[in-house]
Amino acid sequence: MLVVEARSRIGGRCWTCRFPGLSAPVELGAEFIHGRPPVTLALLQRAGSAALDSARTQRFVTDGRLRAIDAFAEARKAMRNTAVLKVKDWSFATFLARKRGLSRRTRSFARMMVEGFDAADPARASARAIVEEWCASPQLGAQFRPLGGYSALLDSLAGSDVRLQSVVREIRWERGSVEVRGECLGTRFRHRAPQAIVSLPLGVLQSDAVRFIPALKEKRPALKKLASGPVVKIALRFRAAFWEEEHPGVAFFHSPAAAFPTFWTPLPTRVPFLIGWAGGPKAVRLAGLKRDEVVRCALHSLRSIFGRQGELVAIHAHDWQADPYARGAYSYVTVGGEGARQALQAPLGDTLYFAGEATDTQGEAGTVAGALQSGLLAARQLI
Ligand SMILES: Cc1cc2nc3c(=O)[nH]c(=O)nc-3n(C[C@H](O)[C@H](O)[C@H](O)COP(=O)(O)OP(=O)(O)OC[C@H]3O[C@@H](n4cnc5c(N)ncnc54)[C@H](O)[C@@H]3O)c2cc1C
Repeated sequence: MLVVEARSRIGGRCWTCRFPGLSAPVELGAEFIHGRPPVTLALLQRAGSAALDSARTQRFVTDGRLRAIDAFAEARKAMRNTAVLKVKDWSFATFLARKRGLSRRTRSFARMMVEGFDAADPARASARAIVEEWCASPQLGAQFRPLGGYSALLDSLAGSDVRLQSVVREIRWERGSVEVRGECLGTRFRHRAPQAIVSLPLGVLQSDAVRFIPALKEKRPALKKLASGPVVKIALRFRAAFWEEEHPGVAFFHSPAAAFPTFWTPLPTRVPFLIGWAGGPKAVRLAGLKRDEVVRCALHSLRSIFGRQGELVAIHAHDWQADPYARGAYSYVTVGGEGARQALQAPLGDTLYFAGEATDTQGEAGTVAGALQSGLLAARQLI
C-alpha cells in the first residue's frame, strides 16, 4: 500500500504544534474528541494514549460583564419544535427567522454555534441537517482531548509507505486500473495500482486542483450540495494566564459579535495560552488579511471580553480556507442536501473508493472520528 501526501507532514487537518518552552500541545486543526466515538478511543488506547476530559465552564460577555452560559444548551433551545422541517428543508437562517418566541440571546447563540461549531454559513446550511446533528446525540457538548495531542494518535498510524511532499495533480482511471500523477519537489511521479482510496478533502475535490480522467460526473450533484466551512484558528501565548486571576476554572469565553467570537483555554491543563476561533462568515471576513491584521482582530476581540489583553509573547495561526490542501476546515450539508454524503462515498467501478470526513454517514461527519471510520469503511469495501 502506498499513501501519497502533498504536505511535508502527516495529519492533514490534524496539526499539533508547540510553543517553545511549553510541552502542552497546541492544536491548529482538530483539538477535541466530541462525545465518545469508539473508533477514536480504540486508536488512542492502541497508541498508548488516553482521552483527557476537557473543562466545559463557559462565560459570555454582555453589557461589559462576563456571565455564565451553556452555549450548547442555549443554541439547542432554537432547535425545538422542528416538525416543519419534515415537510421542507430550509436554510438555518430562514428557519431561525421564522421561529417565534425565541429570546435575542437564544437567536444569537444558535447563529454563533452554527457558524462556529459547524463552521457553516447559516444562509446556506441545511436546517434539517443541523437540527438532526444537534438533537441526535445527548452527548453533544461532551468533549475530551487526546492526551499529548492528535499527533500522538496519528504518529502511531503512519506505519505504511507514506510519500510526503507528493502533490497529486491528476488521477487517470478505468475499471481495475488507476494512475496517480503528480509532482514531488519539482520531480514528476506516476504511481499505478488496480484500485485507490481517494481521501482528498471536500474543498479540494470541489476545486480543479486534482483532475480526474474521466471526470467524476457521478459525484457532481453531491459536491454541489456539500460545503466546506472556513475557519481561522489562532493560538496566543501570553507571559501569564491573566484570565485566571478573575476567572479561574473557566474554559470558554464568548463574545458573539466579535471578529473572533470564541476563545478557550487548554484546561484542565494550566498553561498561559488561549485559542481563538472564527468560523463560517466570521472566517470569511478575515480572509486575505495579513497575519498582523488577523492578530490585531484577535486581540481586539479578546479586549471585548476581558477589557485587557495581557503581554503577548508568541503566536500560531492558520486560515484553513486559504490552505491549498484543505480548502476549508470541515464539511456541512447545504439546503436540500440529504443523501449527498452517501453519494460522495459510493465507490466507482470497483476501482475508486472514497473516504474522508465529508463522506461519513454514521453521524460523525466533520470530525476526526468521521474521517477515521470512513477510512475503515472504504478499506473494507475495497478488500
Ligand atoms: C481548525 C479545525 C478544527 C477542527 N476541530 C476538530 C475537533 O475539535 N474535533 C474533531 O473531531 N474534528 C475537528 N476538525 C475536523 C477534523 O480535523 C477533520 O474532520 C479531519 O481531520 C479530516 O480528516 P480527512 O482525512 O477527511 O482529511 P485531511 O486530514 O484533510 O486529509 C486529507 C489529506 O489530503 C492531502 N491532500 C490534499 N490535496 C492533496 C493533493 N493534491 N495531493 C496529495 N495530497 C493532498 C492533505 O494534505 C491531507 O493530508 C477540525 C478541523 C479544523 C480545520
